[in-house]
Amino acid sequence: VSFVRTVLGDVAQDQLGLCYAHEHVVIRGKWIEENFPDFQLDDLEAITAELMELRLAGVCTMIDAMPTDSGRSADDLILISQRTTMNIVAATGLHLRIYYPGDHWFDTIDDNALVDLFVGEITVSMKDSRARAGVIKVAGSLDRLTELERRNFRAAGRAQRQTGCPILTHTEQGAAALEQVQILIEAGADPAHVVLSHLDRIGDIAYHREVLSTGVRLEFDSAFRWGSKPNQTLQLILALAPEFPDQIVLGMDAARTSYWRSYGGKPGLRYLVDEFGPILVAAGLEEPLLHKILFENPAGAFAFCAAEI
Ligand SMILES: [Zn+2]
Repeated sequence: VSFVRTVLGDVAQDQLGLCYAHEHVVIRGKWIEENFPDFQLDDLEAITAELMELRLAGVCTMIDAMPTDSGRSADDLILISQRTTMNIVAATGLHLRIYYPGDHWFDTIDDNALVDLFVGEITVSMKDSRARAGVIKVAGSLDRLTELERRNFRAAGRAQRQTGCPILTHTEQGAAALEQVQILIEAGADPAHVVLSHLDRIGDIAYHREVLSTGVRLEFDSAFRWGSKPNQTLQLILALAPEFPDQIVLGMDAARTSYWRSYGGKPGLRYLVDEFGPILVAAGLEEPLLHKILFENPAGAFAFCAAEI
């Protein structure tokens, strides 16, 4: 049995429980506050209250998707994990360029230094915390990755080879997934420990089959975003889960306070377990398959794999 690295320490893979696979527990920082005020998630009382509600609904683990310097607040994650008993995994890595100030080292760091930074945050401690990171988050643009994003993906793949740490990526509207996978695999990543986020923003089943056939896992988080339109996330899961039962995971990606019930928003973070799970079963998804999607698949994806050294 492998392990998942949380901010409070390593948890055996088979003890992970119900896991939300792409979350925003805390987001804070000057750049975010000034440029993305909607993404400011820093009321620790409200966050604690919502996570207690999630714990009561059976959610045990959340993967926080804010990497190094992008609004990550790892010591707050420690505090909230202690208060709520929620397992929280923090991320090393780099987000899209827009989440960093103009003079950030994002533009100048080279491949080797970036690998060293990621490895250090996974094996020693994150630069702003005593805790260690348990996932590498990297992000790609729409259609085609930039040169610097390609560097970030190469470094993520190499850091996984050195540490076994799983990788979580951001795709812009679900696009450029095959390019992301190609760079990661070329750099030595194990596709079973690579999770691509937001793929359900694209409805094309053939595209999903092509990406899934590489062995990576896909994270869907738009279930609550379709409004009056047909629920594309539901349709994709019904079509793909029987064929690729081990490769789909779910999350909320609720980066805006307007999605949190404790901030007065909707639908609240319990939506996935309280509402969408029953919707999936009523639409014909077998219960054991739903269990795999919520429990076993994230446990497999976010467990550390064998490292090279
Ligand atoms: Zn996100």
